[in-house]
Amino acid sequence: LGEKIIEKLKEEIPQIEYERYIKNLRYDEKRSKVDHAVFIAPNLFVANWVKRKYSKKLSQLFELETGVETFVEITTKKEPSIKKLAEKKPEINQPTTSTKINPTYTFENFVVGSSNQFAYTAAHRVAEKPGEVYNPLYIYGGTGLGKTHLLHAIGNFNLKKSKTIIYATIEQFMNDFTYHLRQKTIENFREKYRKCDILLIDDIQFLSGKEGTQEEFFHTFNELHTDGKQIVLTSDQPPKKIAGLEERLKSRFEWGLIADIQPPELETKIAIIKKKCELNGIQLEDEIVNYLAANMDSNIREIEGIILKLNAYSTLVNQEITMELAKNVLNEQKREQQKEISLKEIVDVVANELNIKPSEIKSKSRNRQIVNARRIVIYLARNLTPNSMPSLAQFFGMKDHTSVSHAMKKVKELMEKDANFKVQIDELLHKIKHANSE
Ligand code: ADP
Ligand code: MG
Repeated sequence: LGEKIIEKLKEEIPQIEYERYIKNLRYDEKRSKVDHAVFIAPNLFVANWVKRKYSKKLSQLFELETGVETFVEITTKKEPSIKKLAEKKPEINQPTTSTKINPTYTFENFVVGSSNQFAYTAAHRVAEKPGEVYNPLYIYGGTGLGKTHLLHAIGNFNLKKSKTIIYATIEQFMNDFTYHLRQKTIENFREKYRKCDILLIDDIQFLSGKEGTQEEFFHTFNELHTDGKQIVLTSDQPPKKIAGLEERLKSRFEWGLIADIQPPELETKIAIIKKKCELNGIQLEDEIVNYLAANMDSNIREIEGIILKLNAYSTLVNQEITMELAKNVLNEQKREQQKEISLKEIVDVVANELNIKPSEIKSKSRNRQIVNARRIVIYLARNLTPNSMPSLAQFFGMKDHTSVSHAMKKVKELMEKDANFKVQIDELLHKIKHANSE
């Protein structure tokens, strides 16, 4: 079946894309089920590319062929994912330590410029003297500017010092918390988070509106702080500006040092590109480095994306990275970015339209209006973004993708029954697409 679908896709896409990416996919018949197709890609780059560009298309093709809504998984892993899950389970209660820390996110690999100097220095001091200088250290700034990198760097710095380090996003903290509540093993949870030496929590802004988790985090914070253990937090905004965050948390987040990271200036961008090339074994002429730095956004994650892309192109077609290739890749990336509609945008538009808060849509509330809004967001996201049903389920903290497919069904039913509702949905579709093309 997989091969057949690939043949169909081949007819609809540019030949060069087929040759470069699609041809290299292998259908994993053993692991595929009626509603879940698995393809194996030769490497992560191809996997991500196909996922971004064609996972939605592929799943439509499957649906056309079998009549069953199909989740398409593109992976580089050869072993069955089920086995992995089974292996992981017993570990769930064990403290998350160093293992989660990305070894490449070190201070050495972090390029310092005036935009991030302050945050870098603060993070380094905290790493040298955890619990002694600034507690908490709170780093904030836009996406892709290196906050997560600095958190891991603090972790890496202390790895060999027999300290217990926990790195988690606030969402992982929350999931862990609700998991242990359900399993009635909350003591294990507390043992883990309240007894570590360094707690690194990423993207704290998502605490917004989560009252139960805020309460738990408050006590975690207090206990660690009293014991002189280091807490480091990151966010996209300073504490004051996080809506839906309890005052007592805001004020605690300001107890230590608040450091911001700004978008990199040109020289820093150039230095970062050079560093990334060096780390990835890529040769780029200065002229190309300068061109890229001058013409791309300041989001460093995107800078990395472009470099990896360039590298993949050049190895796939076995040619040197020329200025022309660099320009093409940059343009392609820009076009893709423009097309990308994010879940956040959809949530914001729907929330605004229905007069409720974005955080309510992401909450677990069973309020009828909110449930309705959540369903609409799911429906729109399935139509406008490449998000799979499982990834939407994850976004909304739902148990699995059946809740998502249930929401889809409900919206479709309503659209058939209620003409006004359909108009509303069409208007929302239009609005989101329009907002994005500006
Ligand atoms: P954030 O958490 O702020 O969204 P990340 O820390 O995830 O951003 O950074 C995105 C990517 O950019 C990472 O791969 C990171 O290594 C890289 N990066 C960010 N800032 C720098 C820097 N100053 N030097 C080197 N790499 C950086
Ligand atoms: Mg981050």
